[in-house]
Amino acid sequence: MFCHQCVMAAENGCGSDGALVGACKKNDTISRLQDVIIFGVKGMAAYRYMADQLDAPGLKEVDDVAAEALYMTLTNVNFNYQDHVDMLMKVGRATRKVMEILEDAHAEHFGVPTPVAVSQDRAEGKCILVSGHDLLALKRLLEQSEGKGVNVYTHSEMLPAHGYPELRKYPHLKGNLGKSWTNQSRTFAKFPGAIVVNTNCIVPPTSRSKYKGRLFGSGHVAVEGIKHLENYDFSEVIKTARSLPSADLKSNKTVSTGHNWRTMLRAEHGLVEAAKSGKIQRFFVIAGCDAPGKGGDYYRRLAKALPADCVLITSACGKYRFNDIDFGTVAGTDIPRYIDLGQCNDSGGAVEISRALARAYEGDFNNVPLTIVLSWMEQKAVAILLGLLDLGIVDIWLGPKPPNFGNLEVWNMFLDDFKMNLTWQVEADLPRMLAEPVKAA
Ligand code: SF4
Repeated sequence: MFCHQCVMAAENGCGSDGALVGACKKNDTISRLQDVIIFGVKGMAAYRYMADQLDAPGLKEVDDVAAEALYMTLTNVNFNYQDHVDMLMKVGRATRKVMEILEDAHAEHFGVPTPVAVSQDRAEGKCILVSGHDLLALKRLLEQSEGKGVNVYTHSEMLPAHGYPELRKYPHLKGNLGKSWTNQSRTFAKFPGAIVVNTNCIVPPTSRSKYKGRLFGSGHVAVEGIKHLENYDFSEVIKTARSLPSADLKSNKTVSTGHNWRTMLRAEHGLVEAAKSGKIQRFFVIAGCDAPGKGGDYYRRLAKALPADCVLITSACGKYRFNDIDFGTVAGTDIPRYIDLGQCNDSGGAVEISRALARAYEGDFNNVPLTIVLSWMEQKAVAILLGLLDLGIVDIWLGPKPPNFGNLEVWNMFLDDFKMNLTWQVEADLPRMLAEPVKAA
């Protein structure tokens, strides 16, 4: 265990088993809050980096919060509980800001996404598979591979790329393969072409991974023994793809994506009207990172159990637990019951939709018929959670298991002050989710 209040914890008498003693024990809660702050800053930094790659303006404000938050975690600076809670909210606010900046930059560079059905698990010809969140890297690859006789496929968090007009205009951007990063090794092994991972989440291949020799890391993605790409130069990837056998993976499946909040809030979609008229009983945001293991099946069971007059809004790679299901449309409307906002950094779209609904309900977010069920996995999920809490949103559900970075006092804060719920069993949770109070419009 590492205590942020004392970087020399071992010399100060912490137990050899890692247990905190003395002054460090007293400050355990402060140290744990600082852990959460640091996780949040890390998540924020990932978005900040991608926004900077797109020359997005307005990042100074985000940088200032990151610097202030990190400074606060230095040894013996601040031992005040409330100051730390306030900093958590500040990091959350800055995360919302940087997600907004990144989302605007994506829209500016690649157009506003619109809904699209994407071919799933079908691949043919000489081919390249792209995984990660970096849309600029995909764009550069599409430009450089145009007319070279290779097809490009997306994996995991790259799926939303198909919704952007300036990316899907390339005819050699063909479809999507596999599920979230948790199934990455199996998908990569089946794929015969070159593979590029341009952000997290890469699963380090082992010496027995047959695809290791055709796997490339771009930007900060690096693993010992795989090839590394700099400055968005994909010439070696294209050359490798052309030298490898052609793909012949058959499938008739499709998945949908591209339900950007700007598109969904256009009048013709009538989302707000349908909610006010009662055609939509409730919105469920079921979003977040996919995590390995059976715990994630909860999200599939929940999605399948939603009443027909509920709309499911999603983002990030947790959706691969249920995005193969055809949810159809809301009765009496053309509104899709499944809305994929995009990558984890597009999660702010759920806030924009909630804002529009809140305006219609003449109240705050907590008056909107909306249930938020998050799956968490890594630091960006922590940053997004802080962003939601800073908005004053309560009654968020979190799973598939509680994060283990807090102590009891930190958890009590989340459970008491923010009324957070931990997911348990769909049969028990769903009636409670549906009964969450809603004020009349
Ligand atoms: S949504 Fe989270 S778990 Fe999934 S690829 Fe992105 S960072 Fe990784």
